[in-house]
Order: sequence, then C-alpha cells, then structure tokens
Amino acid sequence: MEWKPNLEIVTEERHRFFLYYTYIAGWVISDDPNTKVGATLVRKTGTVYRMLARGANILPSNFERASGELERAFSERCVTEGANAFAELLSDRAWKNGQMRHAEKVVIEQAKAYGFKVKGSTMYMPWIPCTPCAEEIMQAGIVELIGHKAMIMKTPERWWESTNTALENLKKTGVRCCMYDGSIGNVFSLFNGEIWTP
Ligand SMILES: [Zn+2]
Repeated sequence: MEWKPNLEIVTEERHRFFLYYTYIAGWVISDDPNTKVGATLVRKTGTVYRMLARGANILPSNFERASGELERAFSERCVTEGANAFAELLSDRAWKNGQMRHAEKVVIEQAKAYGFKVKGSTMYMPWIPCTPCAEEIMQAGIVELIGHKAMIMKTPERWWESTNTALENLKKTGVRCCMYDGSIGNVFSLFNGEIWTP
C-alpha cells in the first residue's frame, strides 16, 4: 500500500506565511513531548487575511483550568514535584493520548472565546485531522483546510486509514482540503519524536 493523500496542491505565499505561524504555535504552546501540532484560524475580510486564533495539542488544564479530578491531581503533582513529574506522566503514552486535547478543537474554542465568527474561516494545520477533529471542523463551518505536504507525507502507515476517512468526510461536507507544497523555513517542528525543519 502506498500513501497518496488526496489533497489539492496550493503554492501561494500566504499559505507559507500562515503555516509558519502555525508551526510556531505548535513548537511553543504544545505540551506533547513527541509530536507538536499547531493550528490557526484565518478569515479573509475584504482583501485582508486576519488570524483569529492559534492553538496546539495541549493538556486539558494547561495548568490553569484544572477541572476534573485527574487534571487536578496532575496539576498538583507537577507543581509540588516539578518538571520530572511532568515528564514522567507524559512518557506514559496511553495516559497522554487519553488526556491530550487536539490543536483543531483548541483553536476553534479559542477563536470562539475571543468572540470571532468561526464559520467560513480557513484552518491551517500542517498534518491531517483525526476523525473526531474532522467532525469538529465540519460542525464549526470551517470551509478550507490547509496542511503542509512535507508533514503530511511523514504520516505513519498505522494512521493512513483514519486520516483517509477524515479527508473523505471533510470533502463530502464541502470542506476544501489542500496541502502547501514548498518549504516553510526558519522554524522547527517535532513529529513522532524527531525534530525536523519544515
Ligand atoms: Zn484530532
């Protein structure tokens, strides 16, 4: 089997520009020690493209919003025991995957919290959304999704099926799914434990 994601290729400079900020968001904000994914929402008003919000894959509390029992315990433990406790908890992959909130969901919530209308906007997210995130994107009325070909091509085989399903669902709802073909420059990214330069 070969990985041939079915996405429209785009090369306009503005896509490189917004992907640059999306990678920065992932690198700076993400809590994930293995794969840092950012997401941004952009809306065109007249001739101006405006960035509404930025997000990344983060833990639910992000040390500020400890709502559930588990989150509170996690937050308390990290505050009292320091960074080692944080690293130790995050190295438990099952725990981490169960806790981590995905960048797509985070950025949609963030834009709404700022009072922006999300419907009709473009989402930049270098990778391909998982099926639940694709659902969030469709429900939010996002009309365009721009990924980065260099990152999409790194998708491990175990995720091909679910990412293909997500793409099919998005396209059925009329979301334009694209990938920028070109290098971004001046930014680092972490994918599957490997630092690379998009
Ligand atoms: Zn997701």
